[in-house]
Amino acid sequence: MTRLPGLISISLLSCVALLAICGTAAALDCDHCRQALVGQYTVYEGKNLHDRCYYDHYAQYCGICGEARTGQYYHNSWGDVVHAFHIGEFPNCEYCSRLTAENLTGKDTTYPDGRRVCGICNATAVTDTKHATALMDTVVSMLRRHGIDVDHDLTLQLIDKLEMSSISPATGREAWGFTEFRECRSWFGLVQSQETAVYVLIGMPREFLMGVLAHELMHVWVFDHAPADTDVALDEGSCEYASYLALKDLPGPYARFYLESLMNNDDLLYGGGYRSVRRYVQQVGVEGWLTYLKTNPEPPWD
Ligand SMILES: [Zn+2]
Ligand SMILES: [Zn+2]
Ligand SMILES: [Zn+2]
Ligand SMILES: [Zn+2]
Repeated sequence: MTRLPGLISISLLSCVALLAICGTAAALDCDHCRQALVGQYTVYEGKNLHDRCYYDHYAQYCGICGEARTGQYYHNSWGDVVHAFHIGEFPNCEYCSRLTAENLTGKDTTYPDGRRVCGICNATAVTDTKHATALMDTVVSMLRRHGIDVDHDLTLQLIDKLEMSSISPATGREAWGFTEFRECRSWFGLVQSQETAVYVLIGMPREFLMGVLAHELMHVWVFDHAPADTDVALDEGSCEYASYLALKDLPGPYARFYLESLMNNDDLLYGGGYRSVRRYVQQVGVEGWLTYLKTNPEPPWD
């Protein structure tokens, strides 16, 4: 029995301080309206501005409280701009990492297994097997277009985080998906039948589920085509690369965020493996990488 955990990871909010400080006019003109500055004014990114011109044309309004203020703001790759002091006031969404503040990301939900999910992620959350199976068929077709043909009987099950922790040795974001290969043997050791089960977490946003499914389906391809002792970083890195192939042409911020999280993952096996496979595919192409996998258990890099 081989148990192979799936993984993705999320980069946290990045921080940029937007500086807007106040000064006192001394025969200056406003850099926006060209009228004289009188009394207190605002300096923003090197521009001298009437306070009104600053608030009307330059200020970033906080996505949570709606106030435009001087001082520290945070922004992230979703385009959210919020006061720094809101960080910590709201938990981060399990999937998109955004703050689960209703004004920013809608009404959040806490799943029975404890996952806090924002309203936007929850809007596309996949909670029934029929829907998930249809998405898996889509991902199978997406991978086939890249020469990864997963032709294998398998069952797909949606389970919660507690059930996942009972079958997968991975924790956190590395345990969003899991593939189990079971063999039934006769008493003298011959394989009589084989069953493959793909488990994914219930309630993941659609594009995240597609990324996790691509990863797990690549494990199935590796099981069918590659040596049994394939190096773990080569295996996990290849599965992450399959997620990349499946999602890279999808529009919208979710696929982009998922792809960023593959690239920024600092885990040695998953993130390191992914970046190594990516470099290798840049040299030899997708076909060369798949051909290599079929006969080489060791990675093509040092
Ligand atoms: Zn995996
Ligand atoms: Zn002005
Ligand atoms: Zn605010
Ligand atoms: Zn979210």
